[in-house]
Amino acid sequence: MDYLQGLNLSQRAAVEQTEGPVMIVAGAGSGKTRVITYRVAHLIQKGIDPFNILVLTFTNKAAKEMRERITKVVGNEAKNIWMGTFHSVFAKILRVEAHHIGYPSNFTIYDTDDSKSLIRSILKEMQLDDKLYNANFVYNRISSAKNNLISPAEYQKNAQIQAEDQSGGRGNMAQIYQTYAQRCYKAGAMDFDDLLFKTNVLLKDHPEVLYKYQTKFKYLMVDEYQDTNFSQYLIVKRLAAVNENICVVGDDAQSIYAFRGANIQNILNFEKDYPDLNVFKLEQNYRSTQNIVNAANSIISNNKNQLKKEVFSENEIGDKINVVRAFSDNEEGKMVAESILQDRSLHALNFKDFAILYRTNAQSRAMEEALRKLNVPYKIYGGTSFYQRKEIKDLIAYFRLTFNPNDEEALKRVINYPRRGIGDTSVERIFIAADQQQTSTWNVIINPQSFLDGRTAAVVYPFGSLIQSFQVLAKNNNAYDVALHIAQHSGLLKDLYEDKSVEGLNRYENIQELLNGIKEFSEREDIEEKGLDVFMQDIALLTNDDNDKNPNADTVSLMTIHSSKGLEFSQVYIVGLEENLFPSQLSLNSRTDLEEERRLFYVATTRAEKKLTLSYATSRYRWGTLNNCEPSRFIDEIDPRYLALDFKAPSVKTSANDPFAKERSNWSQSQDVFTKPKPKVIPKTTSILPKAHQPSPGFAPSDTSNLQVGMEVEHERFGFGKVINLEGTKPEIKATIFFKELGQKQLLLKFAKLRIV
Ligand code: ATP
Ligand code: MG
Repeated sequence: MDYLQGLNLSQRAAVEQTEGPVMIVAGAGSGKTRVITYRVAHLIQKGIDPFNILVLTFTNKAAKEMRERITKVVGNEAKNIWMGTFHSVFAKILRVEAHHIGYPSNFTIYDTDDSKSLIRSILKEMQLDDKLYNANFVYNRISSAKNNLISPAEYQKNAQIQAEDQSGGRGNMAQIYQTYAQRCYKAGAMDFDDLLFKTNVLLKDHPEVLYKYQTKFKYLMVDEYQDTNFSQYLIVKRLAAVNENICVVGDDAQSIYAFRGANIQNILNFEKDYPDLNVFKLEQNYRSTQNIVNAANSIISNNKNQLKKEVFSENEIGDKINVVRAFSDNEEGKMVAESILQDRSLHALNFKDFAILYRTNAQSRAMEEALRKLNVPYKIYGGTSFYQRKEIKDLIAYFRLTFNPNDEEALKRVINYPRRGIGDTSVERIFIAADQQQTSTWNVIINPQSFLDGRTAAVVYPFGSLIQSFQVLAKNNNAYDVALHIAQHSGLLKDLYEDKSVEGLNRYENIQELLNGIKEFSEREDIEEKGLDVFMQDIALLTNDDNDKNPNADTVSLMTIHSSKGLEFSQVYIVGLEENLFPSQLSLNSRTDLEEERRLFYVATTRAEKKLTLSYATSRYRWGTLNNCEPSRFIDEIDPRYLALDFKAPSVKTSANDPFAKERSNWSQSQDVFTKPKPKVIPKTTSILPKAHQPSPGFAPSDTSNLQVGMEVEHERFGFGKVINLEGTKPEIKATIFFKELGQKQLLLKFAKLRIV
């Protein structure tokens, strides 16, 4: 049992306790995920068939890493373990079982964009005020109903929910939810939450199906159990009911998804659900230095609602935690980028040893610009992923329509893209006809003469034939041939090819990249079915972390703290530690919300193995205006013993050969350390435009009516830059300009005060 050598005594005991219910609640970095990994390997070594093991992870990336490690112990058998996120595993099961609940097996999965677009159409049809019924709000409300397993009918009947909606003046919510659910059903589509909601319906209403999976999955394991919602909790409970071989691991201090319905009670109630529970404690952190572990402990001790846990580290004491102050978000980016270059060369590290974590996605912009300026390679996780880009979604919408012509969101995307004369009015007519005649939009499209006026029918008919021709082709050809044909014959490739702007070129390359991926898929030897429909199922749930074409590339990782859960990096920067940003403004009204923010900070700090740097800016643009910022209270909460209070930039010999001499000297100058205990609060009245551009003497805006791509310009405040793209028609022409100091900005020409240089 050599492979069990890498475990301490408690970890090993938890691995060897393969039978019966097991729970591990332990702090960050204590080896919870490692226990699951070894447990699976151990089960297989004991002779359990991998097909009988189900492991639910938080991200697909985590599943992939686990599988790789297990392969090292048990070999290729590891391929057969059922392992992935809740969504991906149950989407796979629904593909097989959907007919029981009235869905086709080729159901489409609506992503958040599709769902919100459908909600917007419904609001429009119901003539509701889209400010009061904001699409995000409606989406979240429906999502949270589904995660609590509340169907439209139950929603309508629930007095408390009704009272809440009425008091917000949103008495039509129940109707919206019901229409939304019907429309998804009619379109043969499930949204993300449906993948769990419908799985629950399937398992509840079809005992024979439940039994099939209860006996199939003899061993169940769930990582990050603290972040499961009610819907997920119930699936696990149902599946485990026969064998009760269930092992869950989690950390109440890292519960950060309450806003999505995750309920920490799932951990606390586990004991009630399984009275024979075996509980294991893990107290040693193997990930981080002592300073980092101690600092993290001091942060979380500020939370009142927390299980008391001991976490200690026997690793080196390590560097103290740095706190860096910057003038502005752009300067913060610059300081972080410079610090990365400096530490990389000083300590012979790779870029992939570094991670930059932020509270909100929007903060990546300043970081990205700074990294780009210094040629630091980086990769963003969980942001706008490849599959979320417009051109990719457009082509995929054609694929979706080919396999599921009832998919209305896909239809809306491409019925008039590229333009074929089917304007908004014609589209509306199609939908109205389908509604009035109680038929599907697809039926209207392929028989337009029966439902539409002559002129509309004439433009719609060729579109229907086009999609039908794709359907015929898709029957007997491999994914790549079909995809290429669709890209060409839909007109999409040509449309992108003709757009010669930088963005157009980019979009064209992205489509090429997608086709490359499909080609690779078509040539795989380990699968039999190579149709485009199978490829589509593969990618339906892709998030950025799967779109990792080259996981070994040496890049700095950028991500929100939410996406960083479970991961670890040698050097971590947590940026934007300012009041109203982190903790977020929305969390300041209640203890519960503030404590969730603090757990988020705990998650962030515990990602670091060797070195942790916290940074904040004293001014930042938010919603278009420059605001003064105060340092986050969270910095203050760290026990000062673990902070580098008199941190000075290391004195570095700067010789003529030092390739980073300039960056190094800037770094030392700009470094400023937050001094405890009193935060320096900048008076609200200070005028702050620290680095505003001083216009050249006699600055006078030029006539920009003949502005061309490539021209050099000066902006009154943003300084000098180069025009890289122009789009739109007069008077709404937008210019994209790359400013030397500030990076890329898009300006409406009629307002921009520009001087052509
Ligand atoms: P998180 O709460 O952040 O998800 P975790 O409890 O899942 O953390 P792991 O990711 O499993 O912790 O482990 C943290 C790090 O410590 C990993 O690099 C892991 O390989 C290492 N580790 C865990 N246990 C041991 C051990 N007994 N010996 C050596 N290294 C270990
Ligand atoms: Mg983990």
